[in-house]
Amino acid sequence: MDPATPAGSAAAVPSLAELHALGAAQQPAYPDRAAVDATVDRLRTMPPLVFAGECDELKDKLAAVSRGEAFVLQGGDCAETLAGVTADNVRAKLRVLLQMAVVLTYAASVPVVKVGRLAGQYAKPRSSDTETRSTPGGDLTLPAYRGDAVNGYDFTAEARVPDPHRLLDVYNASAATLNLVRAFANGGYADLRQVHTWNTDFVKGSPLGAKYEALAGEIDRALTFMNAIGVDSETLSRVDFHSSHEALILEYEHSLTRIDSRTGLPYDVSGHFVWIGERTRQLDGAHVEFMSRIQNPIGIKLGPTTTPDDVLAYAARLNPHNEPGRLTFITRFGAGKIREGLPPLIEKAAAEGLQVAWICDPMHGNGFTAPSGYKTRRFDDVLDEVQGFFDVHRALGTWPGGLHVELTGDNVTECLGGGEELTDADLANRYESVCDPRLNRVQSLEMAFLVAEMLRKA
Ligand code: PEP
Ligand code: MN
Repeated sequence: MDPATPAGSAAAVPSLAELHALGAAQQPAYPDRAAVDATVDRLRTMPPLVFAGECDELKDKLAAVSRGEAFVLQGGDCAETLAGVTADNVRAKLRVLLQMAVVLTYAASVPVVKVGRLAGQYAKPRSSDTETRSTPGGDLTLPAYRGDAVNGYDFTAEARVPDPHRLLDVYNASAATLNLVRAFANGGYADLRQVHTWNTDFVKGSPLGAKYEALAGEIDRALTFMNAIGVDSETLSRVDFHSSHEALILEYEHSLTRIDSRTGLPYDVSGHFVWIGERTRQLDGAHVEFMSRIQNPIGIKLGPTTTPDDVLAYAARLNPHNEPGRLTFITRFGAGKIREGLPPLIEKAAAEGLQVAWICDPMHGNGFTAPSGYKTRRFDDVLDEVQGFFDVHRALGTWPGGLHVELTGDNVTECLGGGEELTDADLANRYESVCDPRLNRVQSLEMAFLVAEMLRKA
């Protein structure tokens, strides 16, 4: 792949300066432009994190989702941290995603496309540019934390200064994460029979899991059957796993964009799938322009203010050839709004014949601050939004294409409820997210079993 964009070609990605001139929301206020330029130059020389051909393969799988022939499970941290790049942490996230995927595959009876919010999910849009905390010396206001890609989480003036060198740290952390994920996905760790054994342990090991015994038993019999008829062991022992993140920091995404030698077209090789967030989806803004040029499969978050005409406008800008698999709409309405808000969007898209996948993010419309002061979400609201998503699609005869979830493989206490009935008083025990609250391991598995029931009824 050539690091450069061929000037004047149809495939040309605008320069960084041209993108910034369009107006780019949510960008770091770097104090030292020369340091930014040096980092960008360095990143432009680095090898791709993913290959264009892999992005194309994922696009084909997402095309199957848009036809109703596959389901997506996209999940991981709200914000990855550099300190969180340990073998244990990455393995735990992969493990819970694989466990969920087995349950969903069985219930949906279609392939589940597995996409991690990982190996690049280090930059966060914020609703406020500053954060104020009371300190012994009075209230202190500092720049908001924007993810490890931008500044430090510590509440000190030094830590909160945006540092471009962090983009190189993110590149290296993402490379290390992907290296491990590729090894796990192909090296036997992801073996379907092993993953099912973990699920059986969950079901047998707790009163909470016992509710799901019937479904786990059915999967058990299906696997025994597959073994008996000699389904090739090679097929069962490896999985396809893809990386994804919000394409937020223009310097990072632009400097990791390369011209694919096969096609002469630009791909953002920072991850297989990249998405535009709710706060950066301005139609005439820099993010939409940049994403319109790259060839990756892409997503766009759609919140409750989205109009049916917006949906058509996004499709025209981001997928003018109506290529299936290219564009995924990730809706995040909130449990109270999805049943009214989603149908007009789907109806308009369907009437225009748009080839898109619809997936449900039941997290970002359901956040609130608990009396304890922690940002949290209720497990029941999350499930209710998923139920609303299935209900809407069933009523319209369209395909509920998948889930986008914030979760972790550890036993954190960040979301309320679930079978363990976590309360506000429990949040302090193990609240580790540096941004939004995630489902913990048990809540994630419960979600998979509960969604499996919804899928089977749908
Ligand atoms: C996120 O996915 O972490 C996020 C910030 O989502 P949204 O853009 O939908 O608010
Ligand atoms: Mn989030």
